[in-house]
Amino acid sequence: MRRLRNVKIVATLGPASNDYATIRALFEAGADVFRLNMSHGSHAEITERHAMIRQVERDLERPIAILADLQGPKLRVGVFAEGEVELEEGAGFRLDLDEAPGDARRVHLPHPEIFAALEVGATLLVNDGKVRLKVRECGADFAECEVAVGGTISNRKGVNVPDVLLPLAALSEKDREDLEHVCALGVDWLALSFVQRAADVEEARELVQGRAAIMSKIEKPAGVKAFNEILDASDGIMVARGDLGVELPVQNVPPIQKRLVRRCRAVAKPVIVATQMLESMIESPVPTRAEVSDVATAIYEGADAVMLSAESAAGSYPVEAVTTMHNVALEVEIDPTYREVVEASRGGTKTSVADAIVSAAREIAETTDIKVICCFTHSGTTAALVARERPAVPIIALTPLVGTARRLALHWGMHCVITGEVDRFKMAVVNAARAARTGGFATEDEQIVVTAGVPFNVPGTTNILRVAPCAERLIYKSDPE
Ligand code: PGA
Ligand code: MN
Repeated sequence: MRRLRNVKIVATLGPASNDYATIRALFEAGADVFRLNMSHGSHAEITERHAMIRQVERDLERPIAILADLQGPKLRVGVFAEGEVELEEGAGFRLDLDEAPGDARRVHLPHPEIFAALEVGATLLVNDGKVRLKVRECGADFAECEVAVGGTISNRKGVNVPDVLLPLAALSEKDREDLEHVCALGVDWLALSFVQRAADVEEARELVQGRAAIMSKIEKPAGVKAFNEILDASDGIMVARGDLGVELPVQNVPPIQKRLVRRCRAVAKPVIVATQMLESMIESPVPTRAEVSDVATAIYEGADAVMLSAESAAGSYPVEAVTTMHNVALEVEIDPTYREVVEASRGGTKTSVADAIVSAAREIAETTDIKVICCFTHSGTTAALVARERPAVPIIALTPLVGTARRLALHWGMHCVITGEVDRFKMAVVNAARAARTGGFATEDEQIVVTAGVPFNVPGTTNILRVAPCAERLIYKSDPE
């Protein structure tokens, strides 16, 4: 199965997408990466979702990336007896440490540290800032608030306290347990929420022990400030616009998004643009024009992936939301302006042989009528460099390592294929040509570009670039090695 677009789609799983048929339908509609949100769902549910994704992967024979997203020091309310309540402006609403299900008068807020830090007059923002509560009175285990802006609050909605400095550790006890659980299950990416400094990433990396790539979510002013160091310490970035737009004035989000996407592209680390991309599709089968434009903007910026949260996890139209993103991507990517914008925004310094080889591979493919760039990769680094070039032709990443194939599924333009270990370059070319033909990327009478490192199995040795025929007999004939 081949996607006819470069940007990847991340779909969050949840109650609306909790069965094999839906997960499979989401994948078939275009989801390349599934996100397990550790803020919702028990370990048993996460385990089940994980197993269903891997089943889809086996049945459809395509590598799928799983991104487990740790809650981090995100503050959330507890649950409501009715699942949700409607708060009226001017009414009183109490937050406390009582675990009993909430109602229109009160709800559990399981964070003693907030109560300790709160002051009268402080604002609490709930549900991505949609509901505003003003503290009228507070103590060690409660806060009596007035509803300044009303709206719906449902189970475990997020709470931000922008006016108050909260002493929070990067990983909570729950995060550590969740991290261990998902790493033991086997996930490809681990997202860290509310990263504020590079040390937060390093702390997680100690615990992960190489079992997953680490993605930092930028959603706090401190994370934006320390972005360069955080990017250095991370394997990928998520522009987490939900909390970012609550913690900072909402108009600051677009320029930050643009800057972060460019920096990530320059260093060949994948970047996801996330949250409220098709928000109205939680309830409606068609998106607003503004949402379509937002998805398109992220694609024009050259982001690696666009993400669905509640749209696919809890909405009424999860598959339609993926289809919408897919269709927007198809239109944007055939627009000549897209190529112009993506090429004009190509950045980064080139210092290595691998940098030069991938750049040459793109030039050759774009100068001639070569249909695909095939690259052999173990760690995935060379493939990421090819993706950084944002070439006009598709990229096939060939790797014997299933973990690498899955992780690369998040990267722009990457079609991952698992091959056997090869020890001779000719076999690499034969495998690449076969993958190109089977995937429908090139035909017998076309040519492909192949990059690899010889000797094989030594990371970081990309040193060969070969233009080769796609027909097997011609490869044998042209290269007797
Ligand atoms: P969340 O992160 O969905 O876990 O809150 C994304 C965001 O804040 O945008
Ligand atoms: Mn968030």
